[in-house]
Amino acid sequence: MSLIPQFSDVKAVYFDLDDTLCAYWDAAKYGLRRAFNDHPEHGYTEEQLLAQWSIAFREFVETIGKTHWYEKYLTSGEITRAELMRRTLERLGIYDDELAYRLSHTYHVERQAALILFDEALPVIKVLAPDYHLGLITNGPADIQRQEIEKLQIAEYFPHVFIEGEMGFGKPNPKVFELAQESVGVEPHEILFVGNSYKHDFLPALEAGWRTAWIRRDSDVAPSSRTGKPEEKPEDGPEPDITIYSLNDLIA
Ligand SMILES: [Mg+2]
Repeated sequence: MSLIPQFSDVKAVYFDLDDTLCAYWDAAKYGLRRAFNDHPEHGYTEEQLLAQWSIAFREFVETIGKTHWYEKYLTSGEITRAELMRRTLERLGIYDDELAYRLSHTYHVERQAALILFDEALPVIKVLAPDYHLGLITNGPADIQRQEIEKLQIAEYFPHVFIEGEMGFGKPNPKVFELAQESVGVEPHEILFVGNSYKHDFLPALEAGWRTAWIRRDSDVAPSSRTGKPEEKPEDGPEPDITIYSLNDLIA
């Protein structure tokens, strides 16, 4: 079996990881709820904590690239994750670094334990692996992304792995796509990128001259989401080669 006919000249397929191959936001939501419930000393409900965490998360994500936190975030998820919990508690008038650390630790452990591949991901990867160069391009801290790949047991299928934390820069930086192209040694139009983020996956891949599949899933909603809905395509934004709702849609 191979890719659908419209991708007949494709020789390499890169996948995004979180919410493309695995249900990251579902795992994150579960981990947060466990953390807030397992350490009730904060005296607030799970919903109250989640609401404050969401605000702290949005503020942090908006500025992290421009602050000293980015350097820390690249190598280890722990420091910024604990800082986010500290800020969450601070928003409720709680100044307790030790509690913030315990919340952060439980969140991490439970999130990693709950992380699973989407049902169709492994069968699709196995179908493609013998005939295509396969790779991963994923944003996030080096240690966390490596742990995810290990937990999901998919390393053997992906000889080409590009992680933001290891490179020091991530999607949508065009350098990421240049390095990934060099690694597989084929022309840009012979590479297909499959990702869930319109801005961080699809747009830069299109810029790089790659073929594109935008995967949209109902579960692709961050705990900090304001709308409760997956990312929308901007009205006048370019169209991906294909918009899919399951990885099975890539297979002929
Ligand atoms: Mg993703």
